[in-house]
Amino acid sequence: MKLRTKIQLFSSLFMLVLILLVTSIYYLFYNITADSELEQLAAQTNTIVETLNSNPGIPTNDLLGAYLPTDGMIRVIGEDGSLITELKKPTISSDLAHEFSINESQTIVSQENAADVAVISKPIIWNNGDVVTLQVSNHLLALEETMTTLFYVLVVASIIMLVPSIIAGIVLSRFLLSPIKALIQTMKENTRHANWKKIDAGNRSRDELYEMEKTFNEMIDYLKDNFEKQEVFVSDASHELKTPISIVKSYAQLLGRRGRENPELFNESVEAIDSEADRMQKLVEQMLSLAKNKTEAEMQQVDMTMLCEETIATFKGAYAREIIFEKRIPKLLVSGNPNQLQQVIYILIDNALKYSNDEIKVVISERNNEAIFNVTDYGQGISEKEQERIFDRFYRIDKARSRDTGGTGLGLAIAKSIADAHNGRLSVTSNVGVGSTFTLTLPIVNEN
Ligand code: ADP
Repeated sequence: MKLRTKIQLFSSLFMLVLILLVTSIYYLFYNITADSELEQLAAQTNTIVETLNSNPGIPTNDLLGAYLPTDGMIRVIGEDGSLITELKKPTISSDLAHEFSINESQTIVSQENAADVAVISKPIIWNNGDVVTLQVSNHLLALEETMTTLFYVLVVASIIMLVPSIIAGIVLSRFLLSPIKALIQTMKENTRHANWKKIDAGNRSRDELYEMEKTFNEMIDYLKDNFEKQEVFVSDASHELKTPISIVKSYAQLLGRRGRENPELFNESVEAIDSEADRMQKLVEQMLSLAKNKTEAEMQQVDMTMLCEETIATFKGAYAREIIFEKRIPKLLVSGNPNQLQQVIYILIDNALKYSNDEIKVVISERNNEAIFNVTDYGQGISEKEQERIFDRFYRIDKARSRDTGGTGLGLAIAKSIADAHNGRLSVTSNVGVGSTFTLTLPIVNEN
């Protein structure tokens, strides 16, 4: 059911309840007042009967005349239904039915085009000894007037209540629905035309609807940003894979054409294909690692000092290069994933070795409750402009050199994404021609 229909239904329900309430008030008031009129008339009838019984000497008509109700009539009806006596106020018509009954009754008789009448019938012994019916009635003229006034008062009161509520319903549904409709329309357009359209929140007050529109716009910004990043990533990744694939393809063609009779070419081609396959494998593994770092890895307490020692040992075994390791603290616990943290250490040391020729220095220390891991090299250095970009995916300062050293341009992007996932920071300070220092900072956890 649409929101507008729901609001309309709710206001109709409100109207119905109001009408029912007003009608009940009207009839309740009528019944209570009519009952009290009847009771008064019954008491008056009893007084008449008592007076008749206790004053047999006074002429009945005089006595009855003295008790004639303001807008009423007193009748004495014989056993055969004939009127023995009828006394009435001149303004009153004598249309009221009369019949003999030995039962006492109190009724309100409704009349067409005239006020209702309260009628009391009571059997009495008449002065000739016969049983007759005494009928005392009173036209409820005052009640009728009051009811007419009450009717108008209730109608006016209902209108006073209904009109604002109807207007409020319409205004509310417009006010609520227009931003929601705009939102739906924008969403549909975005889905249909693959757009990143936002909503104009305008100068509206800062209510929930404004919050909804603002959140929607923020979501669109976020999605657009991510989508563009993904697009760049896919295009960069395909571009990166294109070079090794075309190298493999050309060597394979060369092998097919002249490889059989030329053993030198054969060896060269196989080597090139092997190295390009390695490169592709590394690229794919790094891309996977970049995607994996986005999902939450299992965290545990890791001793950074020990992790560095282990990783440096692996490097020392594989490369004939000097790595100076300075551990300023014997044990440094951080919360993290050991594989991922080792990957960061590996990337930074590997880069330092790749982009310099002298010794490199690794320092592990603690400052302000943070674990600090530094890798310093004395190589070519990185200019300030390049420092801003080296953490971007696939960015390499010198593509040709990077290719020679097997660089993919993904290492620092991976390291940064791991640092972010560990609530840490990865930064660089560097001077061209002097060298660079990469710093990983992680929050320390206390042992207990
Ligand atoms: P790559 O696989 O190319 O090394 P990285 O993301 O690790 O990719 O590094 C990006 C670029 O930053 C490298 O291509 C290189 O130009 C530069 N770089 C990284 N580390 C250093 C360093 N220690 N000294 C100088 N340049 C560096």
